[in-house]
Parts: sequence; structure tokens; C-alpha cells
Amino acid sequence: MRKKLGIYIHIPFCIKKCGYCDFNSYEGMEGVIDEYVRAVKREISLISYELSAISYQPYKVISIFFGGGTPTILKSWQLLEILESCKKLFNLKTDAEITIEANPETLTLDKLKKLRRGGFNRISIGVQSFNDKLLKRLGRVHDSKKAYQGILSARNEGFENISIDLMFGIPDETLKDWEDDIETTIKLNPEHISTYNLTIEEGTQFEKLYSEAKASHYLPDEDRQVEMYERGIGLLTGTGYEHYEISNFAKACSERSESNGRKCLHNQIYWRNEEYLGIGAGAHSYMDGERRWNIKNPEEYINRLKIRERHAKRKPSAFSLQPPTAGSERLDGNKVMGETIMMELRILEGINLKSFKKRFGVEIKSTFSDAISRLLSNNLIIFENGHLKLTHKGLLFYNDVAAEFLL
Ligand code: SF4
Repeated sequence: MRKKLGIYIHIPFCIKKCGYCDFNSYEGMEGVIDEYVRAVKREISLISYELSAISYQPYKVISIFFGGGTPTILKSWQLLEILESCKKLFNLKTDAEITIEANPETLTLDKLKKLRRGGFNRISIGVQSFNDKLLKRLGRVHDSKKAYQGILSARNEGFENISIDLMFGIPDETLKDWEDDIETTIKLNPEHISTYNLTIEEGTQFEKLYSEAKASHYLPDEDRQVEMYERGIGLLTGTGYEHYEISNFAKACSERSESNGRKCLHNQIYWRNEEYLGIGAGAHSYMDGERRWNIKNPEEYINRLKIRERHAKRKPSAFSLQPPTAGSERLDGNKVMGETIMMELRILEGINLKSFKKRFGVEIKSTFSDAISRLLSNNLIIFENGHLKLTHKGLLFYNDVAAEFLL
């Protein structure tokens, strides 16, 4: 039986770099986009060739996720060419989830129409807030009007699975601002909502701005962020959204198989530590117990693939053997187990103990007995209905819980 696989395509370009962002994304590189699209298509060919050399396409692709950066900075035909390459060269499940991340500023009716007709069936729109003052604080290029228009246009052009990203803990944000953002979002009726709290990451403009003690009072403190997080959960679950992952909420949907509803299939692959293939600059893959990552800089990534293609013309076998990899590591069994527990605890239904034993051949309780005892005695995790899951307190202190399984 073929193994299931998710494919991630990284598009590392943005109109403007947001002050809080530490993703592999760049502003002012529009000039290399054409070449980048060609390089991504070459990488897709390389990997498909490589996989076919091992065994005839051992994977069934259940999801493709175009993330960034801002994928919708590309022209629709460029995005569709990449998607077509995936469809042609990989075994794609007929009802695969095909997501594109979008910045409202880059959405036009024409682009949305073409993307929907071309096969994208899910769109994840980076709204962050409907409050123009807060959008300015974040340094976003769009305003609330563009966000509304983007969501309504996506719906009109046939997207039946829309996800909205929101952010809380923004400088100067009040609890009332956050409640207004959630209520506005609920009225727009998206199938899926992600709520992330702003974190100040190393090397970002925000780190410089907010690391000085005198500026720190602009940021909502930890207690206020917890209050916002809990208020968000209350409002969203109170209107029928299932809180299924620490930061994610989804509607139920009778048409989708099993109980998945509108939960993001692609992200569940990461949270369950299952196999995925990353394509594009800086993209990570996890397949056959090996993690590997690509060259991070887009121009170096493009160059590497140009060189490989020249080699490939002379010697076809090299074509399959030299992807634009920057590094790799083979994970030992204990590390995989620890990481799987850490990631899967993010899903609120928790870790199925029988499935864990089937996958790793050991019991969680005996393998991680010390960590589990400590977390149980601190009321951070609980065993319930054959699952190991976070308590409400564990949700708030997830980072401390996760650290126990990484030791
Ligand atoms: S649009 Fe997204 S990826 Fe681009 S800079 Fe802003 S936060 Fe980062």
C-alpha cells in the first residue's frame, strides 16, 4: 500500500518584510520570481525522478500546501504551472487538499477565479486583524478593507474552504480589540480560523524595537495574552468552531470523510510527525526517517538547480541524485518518539495510545515514565479514553510540556 505524503511548496517573496516576521521571506526580489518558478519545477522533476528510482511512486499525496512568504505574489499562471507539475509527476489523491496562503493585498478577482478553477480548493488568508491601527503596528501592507474584499471575493469565486489567520498580543491591542476581531471573523463565516499570539523572534525588527525596557510597555503582557487566548477560545467554541489544535479552530463538515471536518489536513501531517516533502528555498522534508532541508537563499537555490540541470543533460543519473539540499540528519528512534509526542500533544484529542504502540512498538508510559509522572503531578497532561492529552493548564504551558519530551 502506498504511504501518504504531504507536499509543501515554499514561495519566499513578500511585498514588504513585516517587522515581526522571522520566516524565510524576502522583499524586493520580484526580479528573480520567473527563474524561481523554473527552479521549483525542476526540483519537482528531480524528486519525482528520485522517488521513481526507489520504487514506482511509493507515495499517495493527500495534500499540497503553497506557503511563504506570500505565494499569491506570483501570477496565477506561475502558481498553476507549479501545481500542474505536482499533479503530473506525483500520485495525487483525487480529493487532495490543495491550499494556497494569501496576503489580502495580492488578491484580485481574476487571480482567485483562476486559482480556484486551476485546482486550489482551500485558501488561507493572512488577515491578522481587521483593525487598521493594529495592522499598521504590525507593518502589514494591507488594510481591513482589502481583508474583507479578499475573503468575500474568495467565497464568490468558489472557495468553499477558507481559513483566516488572526493575531493577538499586538502592540497597543486591548481585550476589546481582540474580541472585535474574533466577532468580525465569525460573521464572515470561514471554515477554519487560526489564532496566533505575537512572539518577538530573534533577529527581527520587533526584537530591536521591543527588547529595550522602555519600549516593552507597548506590548500586552503575558497575563493579558492568556486572557486574550482564553477569550478567543470561548467566543469561537461558543459559535460552533471545534478547538482542535492549540491555535486552530475548524467547523464540522458532513461531506468530508471521517471526522476531519474542515481541520487542516496538511498541518495535521506535521502535528502527527508523518511524512512530508518540502520543495523550494529553505523547505524541509521528512521522509523515511530522514529530515533534510534545502538551501535557504532563493538566488543560491536557483543557481544550484541551474548547475544540476546542466549536469543532468550530460548524465541523466545525476539528475535524480543531486537535489538542492543544504543538510540532512537521520533521526534515531527515541528522538522521533519524543518529537512525535511533543507535536501530537498540540492536537487537543491527544495521542492515541494504541496507535503509538503500533507505530513505535513501545508504551508511552514506560518509555517516558519520569516526564509523564512530573507532568501528571503538575496537572499539565491527563490520560483519558485511551489518549494522552493536555489539560487546560497544559494548553497554557505547552512549551514547558514539550520541553519534557525533548530532553
Ligand atoms: S507577509 Fe507573512 S511571510 Fe511575508 S513578511 Fe509578512 S509575516 Fe512574513
